[in-house]
Amino acid sequence: MLSKNIRDDFPVLERKINGNNIVYFDSAASTLKPKMVIEKLSNFYLNNYANVHRAVHTLASESTQILEASRKKIAKFLNAQEEEVIFTSGSTMSLNLVVESFVRSGILNKDDNVLVTMVEHHANFVPWIRLSKLHGYNVLAVYPSGRFGELKLEDFNVKVNPKIVAITAQSNVTGQLIDIKKIREKFPNAIFVVDGAQFLPHAQIDVKDLDIDFLVFSAHKMLGPSGIGVLWGKRELLEKMEPFLYGGEMIDKVSLDEITFNVLPFRFEAGTPNIAGIAGFSFALEYLERIEMKKVENHIRRLTEYALEKVSKIDGVELYGPLNESQLGILSFNVNGVHPHDIAHLLDEKFGIAVRSGHHCAQPLMSILKSQSKLDVFPNSTCRASFYVYNTLDEIDKLIYAIKKVKEWFDVL
Ligand code: PMP
Repeated sequence: MLSKNIRDDFPVLERKINGNNIVYFDSAASTLKPKMVIEKLSNFYLNNYANVHRAVHTLASESTQILEASRKKIAKFLNAQEEEVIFTSGSTMSLNLVVESFVRSGILNKDDNVLVTMVEHHANFVPWIRLSKLHGYNVLAVYPSGRFGELKLEDFNVKVNPKIVAITAQSNVTGQLIDIKKIREKFPNAIFVVDGAQFLPHAQIDVKDLDIDFLVFSAHKMLGPSGIGVLWGKRELLEKMEPFLYGGEMIDKVSLDEITFNVLPFRFEAGTPNIAGIAGFSFALEYLERIEMKKVENHIRRLTEYALEKVSKIDGVELYGPLNESQLGILSFNVNGVHPHDIAHLLDEKFGIAVRSGHHCAQPLMSILKSQSKLDVFPNSTCRASFYVYNTLDEIDKLIYAIKKVKEWFDVL
């Protein structure tokens, strides 16, 4: 387990919620921010901030250096080239950029096939489906055949030869880790677009080793600021792609007759970027690297195993996902007869425990959970407790106690 000192880095953990010590189990929605990131960000605003890439004055060049150092750090983290790291507002924007640009660039055409899965976050589902209606390509979805949304390798034994495979590396609902490398082997000629929003917070990805083409992720799910994320793409593909947003910074020459574009990565970064957000992302990565990603993963694994073992013993609780070692950091559940919003509300009000209730931006997956549910009524949503570096086994004990109490109050057997 990680040292207790880590908790000291997160001042918000000293807060009381309705008289109880806060238990923050909503990191899959967004993580808390360590003091170091906040202080470095404040320092950046106090001492260095100016617009980047344009002016020649000192503050501008300091800001530019800090921004480009962040790009370099992220490239190293991914084992990629700096020009391939594009800053966006987050995973959602990165995915919209990819889909729209594929269509504009003639990479994705009428009658082409795109393979997605039914466990995707809406960010990796809606853009593909929506633009298929406008542009006439086909979107096919892989259905998970395993336990409550568990994708199995054989589910990918499909007859189509997709041009694009768009897939998450980890479900934000069940926490299932998905073996991208093995799935890639099944579709060696497809363009692989990987949603790493849930996976990257506890794992270092080597994009070359994984042999993928695009990767998206968001800083706010890994201790960094919100409103900043990354699109990593293979240089040879990015160079063929039409920009998504047009404006300043992304151009080379502009006249009434002709517009030419800047080099990578700037041609995909129109307008003033989220300068402090980009700096903050590298501060968060620095913090995570100090802990070591492997230790982050091990800590979350220990918490998950403990939680799964204990919660699975509570009668009337339905737990989603594979419930084995491929499930990491997330516990999605329902209590028969109690709506997840009521559970989440009571956990907050009576115990200070923050969990998320809802469909978690994954309505297609909710329909799969519903089809296997043994609840009297499946509420089309779940309660989700998600764990990160600052959580402890004691907090999981509190959650278990609280779930049992909620059951008692609702008189659920
Ligand atoms: N994909 C997954 C798996 C996610 O968990 C999320 C965020 N919950 C997203 C995409 C979208 O990320 P963002 O809201 O940061 O754009």
